Amino acid sequence: MEMLDITKIRTDYPILDRKIYGRPLVYLDNTATSQTPDIVVNSIVNGYTSTKANVHRGVHTLSMEATELQESARRKVREFINAPSAEEIIFTRGTTEAINLVAASYGGAFLKDGDEIILSVMEHHSNIVPWQLLQRSTDIKIRVIPILPDGSLDMDAYRKLLNERTRIVSICHASNVLGTVNPVKEIITEAHAREIPVLIDGAQAAPHIKIDVQDIDADFYAFSAHKMYGPAGVGVLYGKRTLLEKMPPYQGGGEMIESVSFEKTTFAELPYKFEAGTPDFIGIAALHKAIDYMENIGIEAIARHEHELLEYTSRRMAEEIPDLRIYGTAPGKCAIISFLVNGEHHYDMGMLLDKLGIAVRTGHHCAQPLMQHLGVEGVVRASFAVYNTREECDLFIDALKRVAQMLR
Ligand code: PLP
Repeated sequence: MEMLDITKIRTDYPILDRKIYGRPLVYLDNTATSQTPDIVVNSIVNGYTSTKANVHRGVHTLSMEATELQESARRKVREFINAPSAEEIIFTRGTTEAINLVAASYGGAFLKDGDEIILSVMEHHSNIVPWQLLQRSTDIKIRVIPILPDGSLDMDAYRKLLNERTRIVSICHASNVLGTVNPVKEIITEAHAREIPVLIDGAQAAPHIKIDVQDIDADFYAFSAHKMYGPAGVGVLYGKRTLLEKMPPYQGGGEMIESVSFEKTTFAELPYKFEAGTPDFIGIAALHKAIDYMENIGIEAIARHEHELLEYTSRRMAEEIPDLRIYGTAPGKCAIISFLVNGEHHYDMGMLLDKLGIAVRTGHHCAQPLMQHLGVEGVVRASFAVYNTREECDLFIDALKRVAQMLR
């Protein structure tokens, strides 16, 4: 098994040389957003300095080049998640917009009063609130799958929730708080046995797990570029053609029409039917570079490295930090450690850690129902990416010990 050259990988990220309060930055907030390597940043710079022109409208060279960059990114994303065709890849602003699109378009058209949808207690707000917005127009019921004490999904409870009123299941591939990786293939198989479509929120899976939408047979799959070494403001919705074709447009505007008159407008073919307005074509081209970057290193190699850091850090924390409570210990979890120490306030810990150069996230992590379930207001979260090192884990643990002592 080849070891990654992390020292070399780190040279791709000038931001990692920053000092915070005179100390080296230890960036452990990768679940919120990962840093961006030079190759992706350069793609954005080139997009603005060399090929900027609006896509799909021009016959001139720049417009054709910009269009080709966008469409080759679409082909790359298709390959990345093994979707059957590029027409099933819709570019959005991120996971949030992708889920809103499905809730508004699919939910708006096909869910009726009395129908039920199934979510889980570990969902991010972006996979809860879009469905609640749908409740303003339709009297649908949201049913919630609970979790077991280690943070894994209660699959027995899930099976019991599925019934003849269930119209869609929408669930995260990996939890942004617990790190739990859900058995999405099994979840989908169970739903499909009742002809219920499933949306997978892959925001936390795409940076670490090889995705194969055909293997898991997902009906919809959503993810964000900024969490996978790519730019902010770009995301992807994969949808099965059969579903996308019968869904109405989500937004109206340019790009998404075939013809417009005041009497009647007809819509463009997939995927453009769902891409109203000028997309972030420069960001989309940069996502292509981010995928290339991940594939060059190897997604399995990235995950292996992150897991080593996860195991090393979790073990040292458990051994050396008194009164530590880690939230989420499911087997095979992603490299995320959510924790509290001695009941101290997450915000105080995060602020003090920052003074020591350590960037962690604190708060409810856009998962307030999960916090309520765990009986806490918030937690501290450290999460890893390919460029993190063992030395950084040591700095983090030393800092955590100091902070815990200060607060005691
Ligand atoms: N779903 C999960 C599991 C997430 O962790 C996040 C972001 O943290 C989102 C959805 C929302 O992603 P975005 O803000 O990029 O739309």
